[in-house]
Amino acid sequence: MRPVEKKRPGELICYTDSNNQKVEHRIKEHYPDYGDAKFPLSANIGAFCSYCEGCEKIPTLDVEHLAAKSKGGAETAWDNFLLCCKVCNSNKGTKVDADCHWPHLNNTYYSLIYDETGRVHVNGNMSELSRKKAQNLLDLIQLQRYPGTDKSPSPKDFRWKYRFEAWNKASRYKELYLKGAIAEDDVIDYAHCNGQWSIWFTVFKGIDSIRHRLITDFPGTCAHCFDANNHYEPIERNPGSPDPV
Ligand SMILES: [Zn+2]
Repeated sequence: MRPVEKKRPGELICYTDSNNQKVEHRIKEHYPDYGDAKFPLSANIGAFCSYCEGCEKIPTLDVEHLAAKSKGGAETAWDNFLLCCKVCNSNKGTKVDADCHWPHLNNTYYSLIYDETGRVHVNGNMSELSRKKAQNLLDLIQLQRYPGTDKSPSPKDFRWKYRFEAWNKASRYKELYLKGAIAEDDVIDYAHCNGQWSIWFTVFKGIDSIRHRLITDFPGTCAHCFDANNHYEPIERNPGSPDPV
């Protein structure tokens, strides 16, 4: 899950609205109509689901409340928002956030491991506390749903399939890139259109220039979650704290 850096209230963000007008927007602490936060959020962290990383058109994304409105979560507070697809939003529902990792607070690319089958796992190479928080995140969004397991997907839930397809696509583009048949810009364009950032980042392990672009060209990616001196491998986001991830 791509770790992101949310702008703070008071900071400026620029985007182009539906009338093709450039808008300079200062992030507010509260959005009385929380739907108004969708454009600033998209400009800040990209028009992707914060959890499953699906690429969405802005109108189909939901402004997601980290703490559910019905459970006392602040309905209008910028600090309580992320962006989310309909499937992740309905899987999360009104469950109260257990103590879990979040893409804007933790290095969730460190927490979770993606594989070629489209499955997502908790990184076993973390402390017990970090593993528990990563598992709570998976449980909250139900990202582990996979056909043929005891957690099979609901009829509308194709998230596993998008990951599986993205793995195959990214692997194919990696081959083409290494053969010189496509350029770095092409890879980044494809990754943008496809979504599934973590899959692209995993498949392109070993190609530092592409990994660097995946960090810099996807808005809001938290650059200091990755070690530029070690092939952009993920590093702790909160070193020194009980849960350093
Ligand atoms: Zn999603």
